[in-house]
Amino acid sequence: MRKIQMVDLKGQYQGIKEQIDNSFSEILESSAFINGPEVHGFQKDLEDYLDVKHVIPCANGTDALQICMMGLGLVPGDEVITADFTFAATVEVIALLQLTPVLVDVDKETFNIDVAAIEKAITPKTKAIVPVHLFGQCADMDAIMALAHKHDLYVIEDNAQGIGAMHTFKDGSKKKSGTIGHVASTSFFPSKNLGCYGDGGAIFTNDDELAHTIRGIVNHGMYKRYHHDVVGVNSRLDSLQAAVLRAKLPHLDAYNAKRREAARRYNQAFLGHPDIILPKTVNGCQGICDSCDCHVFHQYTLRVKKEKRDNLVQHLNENGVPCGVYYPIPLHLQKAYVDERYKEDDFKITNQLVNEVISLPMHTELDEEQITYITTLVIDYLNA
Ligand SMILES: *Cc1c(COP(=O)(O)O)cnc(C)c1O
Repeated sequence: MRKIQMVDLKGQYQGIKEQIDNSFSEILESSAFINGPEVHGFQKDLEDYLDVKHVIPCANGTDALQICMMGLGLVPGDEVITADFTFAATVEVIALLQLTPVLVDVDKETFNIDVAAIEKAITPKTKAIVPVHLFGQCADMDAIMALAHKHDLYVIEDNAQGIGAMHTFKDGSKKKSGTIGHVASTSFFPSKNLGCYGDGGAIFTNDDELAHTIRGIVNHGMYKRYHHDVVGVNSRLDSLQAAVLRAKLPHLDAYNAKRREAARRYNQAFLGHPDIILPKTVNGCQGICDSCDCHVFHQYTLRVKKEKRDNLVQHLNENGVPCGVYYPIPLHLQKAYVDERYKEDDFKITNQLVNEVISLPMHTELDEEQITYITTLVIDYLNA
């Protein structure tokens, strides 16, 4: 059996090696390292794939989030609501811009932001909601968009983990994740579903005016060369990274299908086990339905009951299976983000999830033998 990895980028590279190597040597020959044709080409390809009017590439997913908030003109004192159970980047940029982060609890079955908790947290100072499409599945965007409309709030989708996921609205219409809110950010960090070979990110929007504002912000606030109309940042996707992304984008749906296939195998092995709660898909298909693209399984995350999680992590590691705990500490308990307004009672689910979740190896190169090894190890351990 091949060695099991949390993410297998090398295996994936073998499948696209020729194209990547060729575009790398072309870029090295041309020396168009910044703003080269690959960057514009990728931007266009991604706009077509997502069916969104504007993709603005930038340096990483954290910058992308920050730039979304700058583009919307949020100012110190504005409150921004986001999930307590997510990667810290989301809350970090809110704080960095001196906006006021307002963390709220999540849903225990989907791990995504709890809409009732958002509604409870809205005040006259609230300006935006940042749903994170955690682990690869859209937050409840029907309800979030309705709430935002009712209270006149912006919705910034943190789509770092969800690229390629399709959201089906209650009326049956469909949109790709990241094209539903006013603006969205994504990350091309190597381990993301669409990852480059370094850092990268992008912003998506259908709003022409906002897109124009953001294109200036990513480039030192310049709309005309050496005229700095607003305070901007320097945040670029470089040509080598764009070439990698351009090579991978045509395979993204197939990559995500492979992740779903792995999730389906995991689900089938674990189904009905008394100590395990499977990740829930909103369509109720548990990822087992063939046509379903509602979940792109950036992570395959189980909940392990009866305080067995930590020992299971250790057992897997000792037996050659890497695994992750995303995330081990709620953001509201992180030193940088503690706030006296928060009450422990408001974070019951996150406080529970941090003790129960375990993410198993998930990538495009997992084979049946590896998955059987992993699931057998988990089940034997829990049954012992
Ligand atoms: C990865 C990630 C980010 C940050 O992306 P970087 O490219 O690493 O800056 C932001 N939000 C979420 C939910 C992420 O998973």
